[in-house]
Amino acid sequence: MGDRRTAKDGDRRLGRRALFVGGTAAVLGTAVLGTAALAREELGRLWWRLPGIEKPRVAGAVDFPGARWVAASPANLRRADRPDDYRIDRVIIHVTQGGYRSAVNVFQDPGHGAAAHYIVSADGHVTQMVRELDVAFHAGNREYNERSVGIEHEGFVEDASSFTDAMYEASARLTAAICGRYGIPVDRGHIIGHVEVPGTDHTDPGPHWDWARYLRLVRAARTAPVKPQRSA
Ligand SMILES: [Zn+2]
Repeated sequence: MGDRRTAKDGDRRLGRRALFVGGTAAVLGTAVLGTAALAREELGRLWWRLPGIEKPRVAGAVDFPGARWVAASPANLRRADRPDDYRIDRVIIHVTQGGYRSAVNVFQDPGHGAAAHYIVSADGHVTQMVRELDVAFHAGNREYNERSVGIEHEGFVEDASSFTDAMYEASARLTAAICGRYGIPVDRGHIIGHVEVPGTDHTDPGPHWDWARYLRLVRAARTAPVKPQRSA
């Protein structure tokens, strides 16, 4: 905490509302008049916040460095422009009830109707299938889909051995990066299981998922130096 929040604080100081209420001139005026805290880096992050400008997308780009990109079927997501059109304030933890390969396959299947942003394998590899810009259909609840990033974990809720050290550590690094990117508090109110989504009949991640350990790992990863994420 308090480590690399400068960019976020800068965004907050400007206020998203100012973009829409005050318009372009107000934003640019504030940026020009802004204090030294408003660094070049932050200006670079602000231009795409202007109304009507979609963030740049690069084919194959990932939001988490080191993740492998495999595109989910467009039928399993809704193209969006988060966090500008929808604020992201939740990370939702899932368990696939199957192997890594089958999870990738179903998320590529337009008939499946669901996909998560990420899949973490038992050996700790991270695959991204939906950009964080977009709304993935993973929570079974429209509002929660719009406000969250969904992370699947290879394995079975009833099998404690599914959840390996490598998986916990990789997933915690991923969640820490997401929390840092969107200013999401690292706590159980904001990092939740699918089971906690209102209206769901899913039970994942189940009783063997070690929340205390997971949050400890996320907090540790959160305080480690991480480079700010860019959309492109
Ligand atoms: Zn789930």
